[in-house]
Amino acid sequence: MTSACVDPVVGKILAGWRYDISSLAPEMRGDYEAHFAACAYCRSRQRLHRLIDVGLIILASVSAGVFLIAFAVIHYWAPRHTLILELIACGGFVLSALIWLIVALATPAPTTMVDVARLGVRHVHDRLPAEIRERLPEELRVKLTGS
Ligand SMILES: [Zn+2]
Repeated sequence: MTSACVDPVVGKILAGWRYDISSLAPEMRGDYEAHFAACAYCRSRQRLHRLIDVGLIILASVSAGVFLIAFAVIHYWAPRHTLILELIACGGFVLSALIWLIVALATPAPTTMVDVARLGVRHVHDRLPAEIRERLPEELRVKLTGS
């Protein structure tokens, strides 16, 4: 377990970006990628932050779903004096959706999830029998394996 950054100056910059360099231009990314390769501390921080991003998205999705269900339950099964409850449930849903949107826009969570999904698909692809793999369209194979 590494407890300190090997280059605190670079580490501080990365911390300011929440260890997200995915929005940087490729020619600017090199130095930071090299730092991630060299620095176990920043690597673990980066993993943690991406975990938080994805966790927030999932939490906001679940929360939005719960409020939506609450709204439906109130709306269909309790027809009297329910306007206030409905408004609360509706407000909760809107708030959750808003949080979801903010997290999705402000963090690389969507990119992370696409990467995770792509990794999973590649894993399945690698286990397919050769004759099925050969039948996959060329461009799909390139997308999955990168070669
Ligand atoms: Zn570092």
